[in-house]
Amino acid sequence: MSWSEIRGHDRLVSHFLELLRHRRLAHAYLFVGPRGVGKRRFAQQLAKSLLCESSSDPIDACGKCPACFQVESGTHPDLILVSRPDDKLELSIDVIREISSRLALKPARGGTKIAIIDDADDMNDTAANAFLKTLEEPPSHSLLILVATDVETLLPTIVSRCQVVRFTALSTSDVVEILRHHGCDEGHAQRLAKLSGGSPGQALALADDNLWEFRQQLASRLSQRPCNPIELAESWRTFVESAGKDAASQRHRAVLSIQLLVDLLSQALRSAHGALPPDLDEDTRDIATRLAKRWNVEQLLDLLDRCLDAERQVDRRVQLALVLDALAATFA
Ligand SMILES: [Zn+2]
Repeated sequence: MSWSEIRGHDRLVSHFLELLRHRRLAHAYLFVGPRGVGKRRFAQQLAKSLLCESSSDPIDACGKCPACFQVESGTHPDLILVSRPDDKLELSIDVIREISSRLALKPARGGTKIAIIDDADDMNDTAANAFLKTLEEPPSHSLLILVATDVETLLPTIVSRCQVVRFTALSTSDVVEILRHHGCDEGHAQRLAKLSGGSPGQALALADDNLWEFRQQLASRLSQRPCNPIELAESWRTFVESAGKDAASQRHRAVLSIQLLVDLLSQALRSAHGALPPDLDEDTRDIATRLAKRWNVEQLLDLLDRCLDAERQVDRRVQLALVLDALAATFA
């Protein structure tokens, strides 16, 4: 990966290239913006530029030297990469303490030590206060990059000590381009890009054929009258559990399936108002029309609410089987 491969953030890329050229980087940045738009990738590219050991280009990384490989694989001794563990709701003080003690050591290879703290908005209060000390007196030659989606949840004292860099959602065409690069065909790429709200990370997560197969099954079950809640819940659980043994993968799949359902219900609402987008694919149009016949506007709004609630519950680690059973019962 090099700067030229970073898509959709041209203005920020030029800004950072300029800072690198003049060696005027601040000691702490807060990268903030929607999920999945490439903030961490950007931070890693910045780290690579600083840690690359080839002298051919002072502001871009060569992508070939051992240091570049180590940054890519997350094993560079001068790069500390942390994020909230999948099974936790918060970033704890232990993680912050480890960052501080590793930052205090001299750089092992180059002249800089870099810490990238993903999910920084998930730091709990004790962790945030501990981190504040590192921010107030950062070890020389260190660069701190916090990555967050919501600046409001961070301590104002942390935000004020960082240069805030705002990332925005990508255009549909940029997301389509990224998806095509990952082997997605044009039609599906267009559909995924629109669904993703400008987040390539979300679009790539949705580019899973199993999800779309399940969406089809879900649509046909929901169009049936009556819909059997036990069968619906069972098929949903089986689908979610087939994501893998670990809870994080199952949760992720549950959220994605709920998000696809939210989209179908939103399209059904549009259909009820005779306002389906003209460029909507045939398949979604057909499902939306069927769902709009099955439920009236009030019911659709209520179902949408229930889905969004379920998504929040999954996020809060409520037991998946409970969430899916309750959601299936709502639809029946
Ligand atoms: Zn290199």
